[in-house]
Amino acid sequence: DLQTTKRLANGIEMPIFGLGVYKMTDPQETIEAITTALQVGYRAIDTASLYHNEEQVGEAIRHSGVPRNDIFVTTKVWNTDQGFDNTLRAFEESLKKLDMDYVDLYLTHWPVEGKYTETYRAIERLYEEKLIRVPGVSNHHKQHIEEVLKVAQTPPMVNQIEAHPYLSQEPLRAFCKEHNIAVTAWSPLGRGGVLIDETILKMGDKYGKSPAQIVLRWHIQNDILVIPKSVTPSRIEENARIFDFELTEEDMRSLNNLNRNQRFGKDPENFHFDF
Ligand code: NAD
Repeated sequence: DLQTTKRLANGIEMPIFGLGVYKMTDPQETIEAITTALQVGYRAIDTASLYHNEEQVGEAIRHSGVPRNDIFVTTKVWNTDQGFDNTLRAFEESLKKLDMDYVDLYLTHWPVEGKYTETYRAIERLYEEKLIRVPGVSNHHKQHIEEVLKVAQTPPMVNQIEAHPYLSQEPLRAFCKEHNIAVTAWSPLGRGGVLIDETILKMGDKYGKSPAQIVLRWHIQNDILVIPKSVTPSRIEENARIFDFELTEEDMRSLNNLNRNQRFGKDPENFHFDF
């Protein structure tokens, strides 16, 4: 069901499904979206200092009636805060905004050249100090992870990357699997951009499911964790109703075949962190 988890390298159980809160800029709307999500059974929230809504995440969780330790909270260190000391400072800032005493998962948001290995070492320190339950990274390609592994005592346990049927990320997923790194998809719906695909629409008709449900189910059957974003209550609920059906192997194959290595976001290979 909605509270299905994946066991990470250190034995921590991470919900395979959660709510992403990027671009939720209106504080009231953000609180309402998270409140709805928790009410319908979501138990993971994905934020970042960049999103400027960590306060609302904390507030919505505190007022939800769901115990803090039943909820898996992810946040991330932004590009301008990277390096060892800066990361420790940024984390403290995030913790203060969330008004929590620990974070479940802390990620390097992007692999800022010359800084990301030191950033990860700080994340590792936070893990040793038990201020975070899981250390991880985001937008790391194979070569970035290899660099991190050279300096890390505790390898990252999660890599959050753009993934959807038009960017299936098979080689990177296989690499992560080899290293026992769970993969979370950001923009799992391609920001809505894959939902008008003919194959996906047809499959929706076949299963009596919406295109978003088909796509999210595809992720889950591929062992990819998902954090779809919506502020619309009916969609927040719709996106969660993916545990009552299964795509056949043949349909999984035809969805896998939609891959065209198309990104809706930045490429970690050549991004400029002025965004
Ligand atoms: P998404 O793929 O989740 O798409 C969200 C958009 O799809 C919504 O704004 C809405 O317009 C549409 N949508 C949602 N549910 C729908 C439904 N049922 N039917 C029709 N349309 C629907 O895109 P996202 O917000 O970019 O990604 C999800 C989360 O991933 C973010 O909120 C954030 O938490 C995370 N993220 C992380 C990074 C990173 O660098 N680590 C980058 C981008 C996003």
